Amino acid sequence: MSFTINLAKARGTCAGVNRAIATVTKALELFGKDKVWVLHEVVHNKHVVENLRKIGAHFIETLDEAPEGCVLIFSAHGVSVEIHNEAQARGFHIIDATCPVVQVIHTKINRAADCGIDAVVIGHKGHQEVLGTVGQYTGDKSKVHVIISEADVEALDIDGNNACFATQTTLSTDETAKTLKALRAKYPNIQGPRDADTCKATQVRQNAIRELAKISDVVLIAGSANSSNSNRLREVAESQGTRAYLVDDSSGIDLSWLEGVSSVGLSAGASAPEYIVEEIIEFLNKNGATALQEVGSDLNERTFPLPRKGLP
Ligand code: SF4
Repeated sequence: MSFTINLAKARGTCAGVNRAIATVTKALELFGKDKVWVLHEVVHNKHVVENLRKIGAHFIETLDEAPEGCVLIFSAHGVSVEIHNEAQARGFHIIDATCPVVQVIHTKINRAADCGIDAVVIGHKGHQEVLGTVGQYTGDKSKVHVIISEADVEALDIDGNNACFATQTTLSTDETAKTLKALRAKYPNIQGPRDADTCKATQVRQNAIRELAKISDVVLIAGSANSSNSNRLREVAESQGTRAYLVDDSSGIDLSWLEGVSSVGLSAGASAPEYIVEEIIEFLNKNGATALQEVGSDLNERTFPLPRKGLP
């Protein structure tokens, strides 16, 4: 085997993920090993969670698993108002690592609930971020609707003159545009952003993978199976007619995928750390890579400050 690696410059962890990881790390430094509980995976990446677990963080799925009075961190995906209030009532020391981009969407849905208008959330039912967003609607729950496709728009029955919409931040920009077009065609007066709430970090990485897929015979994405943005990167690559695979690390690579190829595209989801990319490059170098070129535009990732509340 002999091939070139095309490495996307716009890859890997975003500002919201970096902030969430730094929040847990800082909390462990301040409060000590085994003193910090995190509700849900702080970001959807197996390696990140394992490493934080090794340095003393506990990951839980329900508030009942958290010991009385403990330091409790909410993940980057955000939680519902109900969970937030319950955690507060139970007296946990709360640190909210919800990504600031997601917090903006929460405010929109909060307002929709206050006004009693219908709220349409375009996103994947059951995804942690969508659960948190829907959970911002504190009024009549029958007025908040989760949809994903054009068919869902067709089935929707709301008062479009008194309604707003928001989207999950990590959706495919192409697929969301189709759903949004159908939604606006059916409800021209619905309130919402001009395009979608797909965050800048997601857009930049999807644009990069689209270009990368055009010049690569096969594409590898570093990211975990439960990572929405990593799955979307794989799908965007596939939409260009290129085979694409999502792997947690090099152990997930099947060498038969690389047979007969002259170029391998490589990128990483917004929750996948750079050391995984380096580990995959090392593996590819041992298995036929003869050169590496970085392609596309620079990432220019911004940074978010740590949460002000809860971190002394
Ligand atoms: S992908 Fe976007 S919304 Fe999600 S954590 Fe990163 S910056 Fe925030």
